[in-house]
Amino acid sequence: MKLTYSQYDLKLRHTFTISRSSRDISPVVLVELEHEGIIGYGEAAPSRRYGETVETVQAFLSRLDLKQFTDGFQLESILDYVNGVEEGNYSAKAAVDIALHDWLGKKVGLPLWRYWGLDPSKAPLTSFTIGIDTPEVIERKVREAEEFPILKIKLGGSNDEEIIRTIRKVTSKTLRVDANEGWKTKEVAVEKIKWLEQEGVEFIEQPMPAEDLAGTAWVRERVNLPLVADENSLRLHDVPSLQNAFDGINIKLMKCTGLREGLRMVHTALACKMKIMIGCMIETSVAISAAAQLTPLLDYADLDGAILTTNDPFDGVKIERGRLMLLDRPGIGVTKKG
Ligand code: MG
Repeated sequence: MKLTYSQYDLKLRHTFTISRSSRDISPVVLVELEHEGIIGYGEAAPSRRYGETVETVQAFLSRLDLKQFTDGFQLESILDYVNGVEEGNYSAKAAVDIALHDWLGKKVGLPLWRYWGLDPSKAPLTSFTIGIDTPEVIERKVREAEEFPILKIKLGGSNDEEIIRTIRKVTSKTLRVDANEGWKTKEVAVEKIKWLEQEGVEFIEQPMPAEDLAGTAWVRERVNLPLVADENSLRLHDVPSLQNAFDGINIKLMKCTGLREGLRMVHTALACKMKIMIGCMIETSVAISAAAQLTPLLDYADLDGAILTTNDPFDGVKIERGRLMLLDRPGIGVTKKG
């Protein structure tokens, strides 16, 4: 099988700010895996949080020798090989995993959700993300997001109270809060969450720095909102260790190396009686449509990465009033735009 890849710069509709960074362009690496005349699409959206850039993704992909594999159904062997080439490189590994799954679905002529026996009508609603910003911009973004029934609000900067007050002036819809590790002490986290309990918030994502798992467990004993791990929940082996500090996990293909491990995380979290969310980075419809295949198994979805951009080169899963419309197309269900 033959792997090719190239950088693609996704343009953001609005400058996107979270507690640790701000940007207008988000570069990704698009991947094509060709075998027996079928092309599988994949994508890596590298995250600096995990030491990744477009350059590290391309360097990793250049080291792969997929020509040694002649049977495209041998996902376990192929992905075990990819995983073993070097530590880390989660998003580059996810790109290969997504492309292989897309290839496999196309080869058997089935959407992955159907191949896995899932009912697309069970997919949860997806939230729409509002980044950290000034009250004027926040208000405009909330109005623009009118069709979305659930908003995910980025906090953990210097103006949390102002952001929530601004949003609550405009809408009473359900909010989910993502602090992106921005509350640096357990006392601050408890204080913020206690206040958010009165503001119609459904859960809190990653309140504290990932390295302070004990602090997060301390917070969890003192608040009434569920806590969902994101920066603490990278790969399969992380899941059991999070049971005391969090009520749920946020799975992202770009952290967990793709659909194969993502599916294992779902089952592990179920065994741990944890809630399961699937999230995304700023991504094209390739990675978003891949992640969407798993959603009928999950409690929460946050798959707005592609709709935050203006130049998505692919057509894939559609979002209508927050509903993820899984298509009856083989593989991950994407086509290149003309
Ligand atoms: Mg998050």
